[in-house]
Amino acid sequence: MPKINVLPKALAELIAAGEVVERPASVVKEMVENSIDSGATHITVEIKRGGVTYIRVTDDGCGISPSDVPLAFLRHATSKISKSDDLYSISTLGFRGEALAATASVSRIEMFTKRKADLLGTHYEIEGGQEKVNEESGCPDGTTIIVRDIFYNTPARMKFLKTDMGEGNAVAAVCERAALSHPEIAFKLIRDGKQVISTAGDGKLHSAIYSVLGREFASTLLSVDTELGGIGVSGFTCKPIYCRQSKANQIVFLNGRFVRSGTVSAAVERAYKNSAMVGKYPAFVVNLTVPFGAVDVNVHPAKTEIRFSDEKRIFDAVYYGVKSAIEAGDTRPAVNMAAPKKAVPLAEETENLKYRQAGVDLSIYKKSMEEKPYNHQRPSSPQPPFAPPVKKEPLVLHEDKTPFFEREDVKEFMAKRDEVKKDTVNFKENTEIKETEEYAPEKEIRLIGEAFSTYIVAQQGDSIFLIDKHAAHERILFNSLKKSQNVEMQNLLTPVTVRLDSQEYTALLDNQELLLKVGFDIEDFGGSTVIVRAVPAVLGGEDVASAVNEAAASLVKTGSVDIERIDDIFHSVSCKAAIKAGYKTTDTELLSLAQKVLSDRDVMYCPHGRPVAFEIKKKDLEKQFGRIQ
Ligand code: ADP
Ligand code: MG
Repeated sequence: MPKINVLPKALAELIAAGEVVERPASVVKEMVENSIDSGATHITVEIKRGGVTYIRVTDDGCGISPSDVPLAFLRHATSKISKSDDLYSISTLGFRGEALAATASVSRIEMFTKRKADLLGTHYEIEGGQEKVNEESGCPDGTTIIVRDIFYNTPARMKFLKTDMGEGNAVAAVCERAALSHPEIAFKLIRDGKQVISTAGDGKLHSAIYSVLGREFASTLLSVDTELGGIGVSGFTCKPIYCRQSKANQIVFLNGRFVRSGTVSAAVERAYKNSAMVGKYPAFVVNLTVPFGAVDVNVHPAKTEIRFSDEKRIFDAVYYGVKSAIEAGDTRPAVNMAAPKKAVPLAEETENLKYRQAGVDLSIYKKSMEEKPYNHQRPSSPQPPFAPPVKKEPLVLHEDKTPFFEREDVKEFMAKRDEVKKDTVNFKENTEIKETEEYAPEKEIRLIGEAFSTYIVAQQGDSIFLIDKHAAHERILFNSLKKSQNVEMQNLLTPVTVRLDSQEYTALLDNQELLLKVGFDIEDFGGSTVIVRAVPAVLGGEDVASAVNEAAASLVKTGSVDIERIDDIFHSVSCKAAIKAGYKTTDTELLSLAQKVLSDRDVMYCPHGRPVAFEIKKKDLEKQFGRIQ
């Protein structure tokens, strides 16, 4: 029988460290959370070589008293919990009291920390868990922690790190999330000497988004700010036209903490149905405010994927919040005529004169900010990550007993939303009246012409519109089909037979009733063939076979939700019936299309989500021509 040994303290700490410290990004996450908890208003992260050789996190928070510094590096040392009751009411970010201990066991750490009230602070060094230096030192208010040579004593771990670029990107992602979830803190990230993130810390989410995700992205956003069923949904979501190929920039915070939630993403995506292009995804930064205790949230402190006990409630709140934002704020996309970007100068980190004047020696502090050479042995190709891939569970929404629109909170929400809409209309009317007094742009729509037999050029008021005639007509037909209770049918003088593959054939015959609702009278003709006796009148009896083919294909493709199936069939019918690009269209038809497009807010995107029209403002033209600044 092998002898049982109690593990030496250092070894036990190394094992525990594996759970907390996986890579440089996890160290940065823990240190930044500590800085946030310390009440800092400025946090600067600097990394070199992806954070593998050097991580510095500097804050201007409360600092640590000289006698507490060594304690902070002990396992289960925390100033955030002192009795078990605290566990339930905890709202700070870190609370396991092991981040510093774990990091110290696998790296060389140097800390400078000073409370505002003290003139001198503490300089502390700990290497592989062993205290090396503990002395008084001049240093700025707050805490600076430098983590060097992560995993220098655990080469096995080192092997699993990705390239410097990959590790650095993970650190950047951590900093971006921190900056976005705390607009009240000014964040900086310096990567190999280059400042890559710098936020204002003015408390406004929009300016944090502007700094972190870029001006371009920030200009595409609609503001979300609603509450439903006790769940607050606030933040920003992109205009439908700016949906993108990937799910990047789908950022969710729960009470200010970054999380991933399949339910939230699904709810936002559903809200974009019929306004965003098929296969494209919205980008958003959304903060959910869920009262502590009201919704049971399963969230592991180190994991980000969460499940709510009442997923349906969350889904509804997010869906309606985002949907209202889209309805209230979406405008036609403008043709992008922005001036070329100006280069933003690198903000220099400023020297602190105060200490020099007080005669405090900052030389140790300054020297410590440097990277010390260390020979890291790492394989040249990236290795697989530690954890096995997580199996995704399918999303299950709990059914609520009360029908959605009969719920009290939903009614209240809808009423509030209508109020907002009314206000917007009043506001618009008021401003329009004022406009007529001062300057009356012509409201009449004038057809200027048609470009490439495809785009209608029309003028209204102070804008020129470029309208895709096919997309516009398609959307108009789609809307009118959707609105009509009974789709008008046209009997074919000569019924048409259509041969299909067996799957489509079965789908058509299984859905005869549904097809009748959307205007197709179809019967079995045997041998994988159907006979079509009537079609929706909008088709004008043309292209019957291909319309039936497409209807069949969409029945096979879409799931079993009737509304979605009907929508899909309407899509294909309106696409078939709409005038085509490249074909000749009379001026009267073009003008009538332009009038319909510009008078109906529902004609913004074609049923596949492509934009119907772009707007060029007179003011922007004048800027381009240098008539105005
Ligand atoms: P936890 O954050 O779970 O308490 P840590 O190991 O991350 O555990 O930190 C231990 C303690 O060190 C904290 O509770 C806090 O008192 C102190 N501390 C760590 N970082 C900072 C900081 N940047 N500013 C002030 N105090 C800090
Ligand atoms: Mg912590």
